[in-house]
Amino acid sequence: GDFAKELDTVVIGSGPGGYVAAIRAAQLGQKVAIIEKGSIGGACLNVGCIPSKALINASHQFQVSLDSKLLGIHSNDTSINFQETQAWKDNHVVSKLTKGVEMLLKKNKVEIIKGEAHFIDSTTIRVMFDEASGQSYQFKHAIIATGSRPIEIKGFPFKGRVIDSTGALNLQEIPKKLTVIGGGYIGVELAGVYANFGSEVTILEGTSHILPSFERDMVKLVEDDFKRKNVSIMTNATAKSVTQSDEQVTVTYEQDGKEHTVDSDYVLVSVGRRPNTDDLGLELAGIKVAANGLIEVDEQGRTNKKNIFAIGDVVPGAALAHKASYEAKVAAEAISGSKGVAVDYLAMPAVCFTEPELATVGYTEKEAKELGYQVKASKFPLAGNGRALSLNQTQGFIRLITEKQSNAILGAQVAGVSASDLIAELAVAIENGLSAEDITLTIHSHPSMGESIMDAAELALGNPIHI
Ligand code: FAD
Repeated sequence: GDFAKELDTVVIGSGPGGYVAAIRAAQLGQKVAIIEKGSIGGACLNVGCIPSKALINASHQFQVSLDSKLLGIHSNDTSINFQETQAWKDNHVVSKLTKGVEMLLKKNKVEIIKGEAHFIDSTTIRVMFDEASGQSYQFKHAIIATGSRPIEIKGFPFKGRVIDSTGALNLQEIPKKLTVIGGGYIGVELAGVYANFGSEVTILEGTSHILPSFERDMVKLVEDDFKRKNVSIMTNATAKSVTQSDEQVTVTYEQDGKEHTVDSDYVLVSVGRRPNTDDLGLELAGIKVAANGLIEVDEQGRTNKKNIFAIGDVVPGAALAHKASYEAKVAAEAISGSKGVAVDYLAMPAVCFTEPELATVGYTEKEAKELGYQVKASKFPLAGNGRALSLNQTQGFIRLITEKQSNAILGAQVAGVSASDLIAELAVAIENGLSAEDITLTIHSHPSMGESIMDAAELALGNPIHI
């Protein structure tokens, strides 16, 4: 029938923003429906964080098995069946997690509606199940969590051997040669995957450095790793055009005023993502959208329409899964009547899953100085950590940025094995206003990578034991 059904809260999109918002709103007592036009789990679970980390791990295990002679391990006939790798990623990682999320939604009594949502006005949404059939819903509150998609650049339409990150995650063969346009974290992570699997990789980066959002001494470690693995990094290189045949693809790029070409089996274009806000009927609901497609929101995630919220990749800030989930909880609580709740991104980490992993939280030394703090930066090299040595992965360091008088932790950067996990301790420290002394008074297990955080804190206090 075409009578609009009634809901308290409708969530559009089931990525790490949408599914978390739906579950939390339901836990807080609301009648919630989530609308998804694609697969449950959004970009993150299906074509983003999770499949990329699965391939990063497989490619790392492959590298390690090729190169453990120092440890007395000689695996001379290591080989790879990439289709099996892909099947493992799809059937044992991605689909397990997406099914898990679907179960969690059901367990929390969230109604799952499979279809494409469009606003009709600021309290009505229409969901199309296919071209002909649909259903309208009246809502009190809506949360827009429709995420983002890869940007297509002029002259490089995604077709054939010109692929986006989704294509790169789903290749069924290891390319002999791969060109990556864009040295941001997505391009660099995927470059690392195929370099580990033996591809000859070329990265074309338009600015002077890859991974511009991480500090140079961290990125240098990744560049060194890439050198060892036959990855060429072309900086200040602008991709101009592409031609492709059945067998290969050729990219023309400009560097230092000269034109060059590079041939490869595939070209991955990873130059950023664009919010999915163009096709939602936002104008019918009266929601303001900026020229770049992002929706402006207040500190609770509320758009200019008081009853409609937006979270995740459709709002300004880093396009990261944990940011989406964090904003989801704030929005769900605000909708459910929590007054004081507001976002605070100070202790939000960012991670790049390269070798070594890079992670950062809070302020860099430069940022803290610019804010007027008296700053001390204390850098503890992982080469002095017993656990890192026993893992045969000693590249990297922990750096603490502390305030000189109080020793309060203002920021931290970790480069090294398990940086993605180590950064959590430092996020807790910053979120709770802890000082270097609080860290040194905490007993850290031995031997562990986490001890290096304690060592960096001792260094900040001027009494280092292990350096
Ligand atoms: P999404 O996850 O994009 O979900 C949006 C959902 O909305 C989609 O399922 C879509 O189908 C649905 N939708 C859109 N329009 C409609 C409509 N009209 N009706 C119904 N449904 C609709 N982030 C990290 O934090 N760590 C990582 O390691 C990481 N790795 C990444 C690797 C890659 C290759 C990529 C591409 C991204 C990665 N990200 C990572 C980023 C992360 O995936 C995103 O920040 C995150 O998915 C954003 O979540 P979201 O909920 O805003 O949107």
